[in-house]
Amino acid sequence: MASISLKNINKVYPNGFHAVKDFNLDIEDKEFIIFVGPSGCGKSTTLRMVAGLEDISSGDLLIDGKRMNDVEPKDRDIAMVFQNYALYPHMTVYDNMAFGLKLRKLPKAEIDQKVREAAKILDLEGLLDRKPKALSGGQRQRVAMGRAIVRNPKVFLMDEPLSNLDAKLRVQMRIEISKLHEKLGATIIYVTHDQTEAMTLGTRIVVMKDGVVQQIDTPHNLYNKPQNLFVAGFIGSPQMNFMDAKIAVNGETVTAQVGDANITVPAGKAKALIEGGYDGKTVVLGIRPEDIHDSQMFIEASPNSVIEAKIRVYELLGAEVFLYFDYAGTQVTARVDPRTTAKQGDHIKFALDMEHAHFFDKETELVIT
Ligand code: ATP
Repeated sequence: MASISLKNINKVYPNGFHAVKDFNLDIEDKEFIIFVGPSGCGKSTTLRMVAGLEDISSGDLLIDGKRMNDVEPKDRDIAMVFQNYALYPHMTVYDNMAFGLKLRKLPKAEIDQKVREAAKILDLEGLLDRKPKALSGGQRQRVAMGRAIVRNPKVFLMDEPLSNLDAKLRVQMRIEISKLHEKLGATIIYVTHDQTEAMTLGTRIVVMKDGVVQQIDTPHNLYNKPQNLFVAGFIGSPQMNFMDAKIAVNGETVTAQVGDANITVPAGKAKALIEGGYDGKTVVLGIRPEDIHDSQMFIEASPNSVIEAKIRVYELLGAEVFLYFDYAGTQVTARVDPRTTAKQGDHIKFALDMEHAHFFDKETELVIT
């Protein structure tokens, strides 16, 4: 299969808009790479440059070590699956899948073998004679995948392939794509808005903002070790809470004043704040909703990280409860056990699990610890 390298890739559109800035990424054979980021951050532009559908303004694109910048899309050995998978309505499933191979004038027997093989992988064998309008959304999406698979490409590029499907189908297809990746052993680059897709499918995720890569990491590291405020806020739902914290160093003890609470910072994190020279400065404390606890046991165990607030909204989602409250000038979300006795309007204590807290520099927005 294929390794792909993007080296200092830039895209400046003819109107002067700099859509992708110094993009660097080495993708190993068989990796499943996800591009995520807010609308307009340059995900599709980058993918289209890899496909050859968009010129590269500067930088190098290598596939298996060969420079591809000037190679025609059809000669790149890449297959692309888009969100509007545009099947030919007058053709059967079989013919839709065979179409590209017929264009390439492959022998009939070979085409037949490839189409049947792909149909088997995608569980479309019983549907080969149907026209697209007689298929469900998920089946159509599988045919679109089939069209890509029959070509047996080195690389699959997928641009929000599931975004037209309803929630249930998306989950099904997500699992299908994951299995497909395993079966085909292909290198995949996949663009999505959907965090769950990103977190569950990706071997690595590239987070972009305004054309600039913010962090490239495993799903686990992105969630647990975000490198800056943007990534911390973008990955995770509901999102990480951010509160201003004024740091005070007293010998080896570090406290963070958050609202009207003085919270003790655990030793490892305290060291980073001391070494960074943050005594007396205000930083941003980031804490995920699941790291704010309302249980008595937790509050008693961590008396030095307790805050008090009035619950503004109580939301029961079945397996979990979200409690929303205002604290230190911001709205804070806690994700707690559904057996909580807390109710809307209650004034209660919360304990922050400071071992899992993050601190960010207010100016550079980079993580401190
Ligand atoms: P979305 O999630 O909304 O699809 P994206 O991250 O894929 O967004 P791109 O489609 O790559 O974003 O676009 C990146 C930026 O480049 C956007 O600001 C867009 O408006 C701009 N852009 C895209 N195509 C062109 C073009 N042909 N000329 C000028 N600017 C363009």
